[in-house]
Amino acid sequence: LRPQDYIREHIRTVPDWPAAGVQFRDITPLLQNPRVFRVLIDQFVHRYFDMRPDVVAGLDARGFIIGSVLAYELNVGFVPIRKKGKLPFTTVEETYELEYGSATVELHTDAVKPGDRVLLIDDLIATGGTMMAGKRLLEKLGATVIEGAAIVDLPELGGSAKLHAAGLPLYTLVDFE
Ligand code: 5GP
Repeated sequence: LRPQDYIREHIRTVPDWPAAGVQFRDITPLLQNPRVFRVLIDQFVHRYFDMRPDVVAGLDARGFIIGSVLAYELNVGFVPIRKKGKLPFTTVEETYELEYGSATVELHTDAVKPGDRVLLIDDLIATGGTMMAGKRLLEKLGATVIEGAAIVDLPELGGSAKLHAAGLPLYTLVDFE
């Protein structure tokens, strides 16, 4: 079994959550099983060990879980990109459109330095809006996002294509329709 297939087998699909018609891809079974969790993190460690990012930035909230473990393994710092109103120090913020309404994410102004090479990570890419907002925040502070990483891509929603067109290379492990 390839690592990607082993990982895929441990993603649970929850129908009609959080709304009717949505098939939610639940990654909690991946974290719960220590062997799968290790295989998962090792995929990212192998990918990024040689690329040597200066910082790992994780997107709220599941990006924190995998991003912090990855940063620890790469021996680099971790910074959280959070939903508005959670970070205590001075921040930069970015608002983006959702299917209904909008969302705002924030980053501490001292989270990265100009010229830092940042790896941006989340659990899943759907429309790509969240990852695009994270990229913009990091660039506002003068950092360069070397790659966006996620466990799951939903290519039919067009997010990964949009991010790629915006100049962001992506690394994802599993696709779902
Ligand atoms: P996007 O901004 O790309 O449309 O949505 C991605 C964001 O929403 C990510 O932060 C991700 O955690 C969350 N998300 C949206 N749909 C799902 C899903 O089916 N499963 C999981 N685990 N997260 C999702």
